[in-house]
Amino acid sequence: MTTKSYAVIGAGPSGLAVMRALQKAGILATGYEASHDVGGLWDITNPRSTMYSSAHLISSRTTTEFTEFPMDSDVDYPGHRVLKRYFDDYADTFRLRERFRFGTHVERLERDGDGWILRASTGADRIVERHDGVILANGTLAEPQVPSFAGEFTGEIMHTSAYKDPAQLAGKRVLIIGAGNSGCDIAVDAVHHATSVDMSVRRGYYFVPRYLFGRPSDTLNQGRPLPARIKQAIDSRVLRAFTGDPVRFGFPKPDYRIYETHPIVNTLVLNHLGQGDLRVRADIGRFDGDTVHFADGSSGEYDLILLATGYRLDYPFVDREHLNWQGASPRVFLNVFPPSFNGLYLMGMIEASGIGWQGRYEQAELIATYLAAAEQDPARAERFRARVGERVWPDLTGGYRYLALARMAHYVNKDAYRRAVRTEREGLLAPVKDPVA
Ligand SMILES: Cc1cc2nc3c(=O)[nH]c(=O)nc-3n(C[C@H](O)[C@H](O)[C@H](O)COP(=O)(O)OP(=O)(O)OC[C@H]3O[C@@H](n4cnc5c(N)ncnc54)[C@H](O)[C@@H]3O)c2cc1C
Repeated sequence: MTTKSYAVIGAGPSGLAVMRALQKAGILATGYEASHDVGGLWDITNPRSTMYSSAHLISSRTTTEFTEFPMDSDVDYPGHRVLKRYFDDYADTFRLRERFRFGTHVERLERDGDGWILRASTGADRIVERHDGVILANGTLAEPQVPSFAGEFTGEIMHTSAYKDPAQLAGKRVLIIGAGNSGCDIAVDAVHHATSVDMSVRRGYYFVPRYLFGRPSDTLNQGRPLPARIKQAIDSRVLRAFTGDPVRFGFPKPDYRIYETHPIVNTLVLNHLGQGDLRVRADIGRFDGDTVHFADGSSGEYDLILLATGYRLDYPFVDREHLNWQGASPRVFLNVFPPSFNGLYLMGMIEASGIGWQGRYEQAELIATYLAAAEQDPARAERFRARVGERVWPDLTGGYRYLALARMAHYVNKDAYRRAVRTEREGLLAPVKDPVA
């Protein structure tokens, strides 16, 4: 058991994963969760959850679940209620709930010598505690990215983070701005409830069916990953054969290759476009009352604009310098360790197609391995820090040229990332050679 004190902020999949990895390494930590229970955004009753009633996994069950804890379901793409139960069972099985204080919102982290003062509030009480290290697992999909537009819209504007139920769309002329995974899910909901549905897009997208050759598409081609260019060539050919060319339905032709941004795992949108239930519109030009003028000179009138414009990273309780922010994201080793090794660790700050919760668990194992080494065999931890400081950091792109967008700043290729995490963990576990022996 450790003598040092650690904190974990957040009891979502990442917070639970790190608590479990710490438990296995014999490290006790205190968890702080603002909401009333575990599950993070998969608990639709969590006030910070960005789930909506129709949401299901977009990565399939077997590629997403924790390896040591298979889901008690034979559904390929379970819905959020099943996933909430999964995290309940995970927390109960490994007795993780008792490690967390619920209803406890962390408001501030301040440097205190080698450690951190954590200030939190339960509403009734204020908490001030000192920890040697703090693991930040407060999620990456909670803080809306809201762009500004020319002109003024007099109807209702809502970000997808506030969308919960199709009743919010009933009887309205809806314009969805952006066609990411949430935007497309909500477009499909809207088709059945709104008076009309348009989607305004800036760029083209690749639409991946949930099933290919009768199997969940992300379970194909597992094992040894193909080089980026070969995979891009094969998969875009397969997609052309299965889903056709989205340009036929009004989408612009993508000016990038597949997997250079997150693919859209939704082909229902294409069906509805084919049925005329939904229309693709050009980029926004300007708003004028209830009219939206598009960049191609066309216009439309709407009651509700839904901003499917994504999320931005946010660690509001700690000064940016401590996380080495550069541009839209912290620049930290393997998306976890600030190069100053100041006792803060980022957990779950990865976006990747198919990384799943197991990928996040492996990240947690690396943190636990480092913290255990720091206490039990400081020379191994010292060697790890020195390597991080001295060498060029591993390439986590897997050879894909990700689009230079703010939301891609912390994007990684799952295979490259998991390989790098495995290598670093093995390096941390290797004994330090005695220079005299
Ligand atoms: C609609 C939708 C579909 C998705 N589908 C998939 C999918 O198919 N596959 C996949 O792998 N991922 C998917 N995701 C991504 C999802 O983010 C991850 O699955 C996972 O929830 C990330 O877990 P997390 O613990 O990092 O963050 P979260 O689940 O966001 O949990 C963060 C927790 O931190 C707490 N918290 C935040 N701030 C504080 C604070 N200051 N003090 C105390 N507590 C705090 C929050 O209350 C929350 O409980 C999807 C996301 C959405 C929105």
